[in-house]
Amino acid sequence: MMGSNRVRILVVEDELDIQRLLRTAFESQEFEVQDASNLSQALTRAATFHPDLIVLDLGLPDGDGLTFIDQFRAWSQAPILIVSARMHEADKVKALDRGADDFLSKPFGLGELLARVRVQLRRGSKTESGMATRLEFGDVVVDFQQRTVTKAGQPVHITPTEYRLLTALTRAPGKMLTQNTLMKEVWGPHLQNSSHYLRIYVGHLRRKLENDPSQPRHLMTETGVGYRFVK
Ligand code: CA
Repeated sequence: MMGSNRVRILVVEDELDIQRLLRTAFESQEFEVQDASNLSQALTRAATFHPDLIVLDLGLPDGDGLTFIDQFRAWSQAPILIVSARMHEADKVKALDRGADDFLSKPFGLGELLARVRVQLRRGSKTESGMATRLEFGDVVVDFQQRTVTKAGQPVHITPTEYRLLTALTRAPGKMLTQNTLMKEVWGPHLQNSSHYLRIYVGHLRRKLENDPSQPRHLMTETGVGYRFVK
């Protein structure tokens, strides 16, 4: 369907069973799908198809999915969701630091995959309309203009560091942020290896903003990788 307004998804996956599964799942959501089974095909398809979102496997027969991220990010900010059997935290961090937006480990459930895709697509369409001035999650309201935070209508005292961290975390709902990314943004480059600071300050924010800080629903930890804000 040329010229349609449907969301375009490029599936980069060399395992044909999974490729077919993904295509069926996306087509059931009325998405327009193209697939690529290797790196060079992926780069060509991306350039001609202009996808709104990429689902990317890292282990490809003719190269590494990370190379795709590097080249694609040179001209597109469309979200990249990694779907990979690589379980090592270092690999996830590498992919996220190079410009991927989220990571799902194989095997995954289709419900989970579609939910993550929806979050990324929502985020993508919001970026165009500019930075939000107000954010709501649970019973929390953040007013970025006034720099105020309330929970259940009551003002919450937030320190400047906590505020910077909250801003960095919530700017991109659903995006997985590595510890390095967050630390650089909140403390600058000199504190890079002090991830315990980050843990402490995320703890502060959870105590102030989560209903049950031990079971956070919005400020989520991705063990060994970083954090993700869920609206
Ligand atoms: Ca593979």
